Amino acid sequence: MTAHVQIDAVVKRYGPRTAVDHISLTLREGETVALVGHNGAGKTTLIKLMIGLIRPDEGTIRVLGSDPATGDAKARRRLGYLPENVALNPALTGRETLSFYARLKNEDRRKVAALLERVGLGEASARRVGTYSKGMRQRLGLAQALLGKPKLLLLDEPTTGLDPALREQFYEIVRVMRNEGCTVLICSHALAEMEGCADRVVIVDSGRKIADGSIDELRRIASIPAKIRLRTVPGELRRVETHLGLNGCHKRLDDTTIEVNLTLAEKVRFVHRAAALEDQVLDIDVLPPSLDELYAHFLQGRRM
Ligand code: ATP
Repeated sequence: MTAHVQIDAVVKRYGPRTAVDHISLTLREGETVALVGHNGAGKTTLIKLMIGLIRPDEGTIRVLGSDPATGDAKARRRLGYLPENVALNPALTGRETLSFYARLKNEDRRKVAALLERVGLGEASARRVGTYSKGMRQRLGLAQALLGKPKLLLLDEPTTGLDPALREQFYEIVRVMRNEGCTVLICSHALAEMEGCADRVVIVDSGRKIADGSIDELRRIASIPAKIRLRTVPGELRRVETHLGLNGCHKRLDDTTIEVNLTLAEKVRFVHRAAALEDQVLDIDVLPPSLDELYAHFLQGRRM
């Protein structure tokens, strides 16, 4: 698969502070990658390096086949970027704003109306941006990033200010872009949202990459126990505990619910044994470690 972004051993310093510290990262065509890390971890700096706003002090970066800092205009036009804080002119309407960006990108302005519809701003397109809510401005920013059918989308905190329905709509747009072969990098602190949409997760801390893999790969590496929840027939909880040999290595959540933490190796056998108690067990839920838990695990590993 073609690499849309190839970052090799990149270092970026601001005076004495090293914002990006020997990071290597590949984004392959059509992947959706979540870039996560604490405030100040170096995420925005990495994105700025990818769009060529700043240059690395060491290492090399190739974006869509060229060096982003030396500015291959053709490659730049295939790159969509949504910054963390979109600065928009409040006096322009949504349509005028997007037409302005279309001109900058040398894009067909006839596509502006369809793009505004796509992000749900069709009806508000004649209103001035100054009257838009935060979520509407964010969607206009996204429309700007989607201009010109980008091959690579870099989205910095894209769902900030969006309500749950708009967030869902936003991820649907990302899924469509991905299915069309677009590579998407999303920087976000909203880890639960990333679980459903990211093919890969990259965790950075103090400018260093500390984890990189699919959520399943990170689960295997971290080997954090999975939670198994059993719901028993009323009055059968004690018998289930005895049958399964649970000697206090579990939690009772209420009169009919038990939660057990089990490693990957123990999980399947336990579920088989619990499923065999069909007269006493009503339901079994397996809850693998969430991205929030994995994130905490990898960061904790660094602090120890
Ligand atoms: P956040 O989640 O808060 O957006 P981030 O992971 O995007 O954080 P960066 O903005 O990349 O972090 O910052 C990484 C480090 O580099 C921080 O310590 C920050 O203070 C520093 N930094 C970033 N830009 C500059 C700059 N222009 N001048 C000096 N230091 C900077």
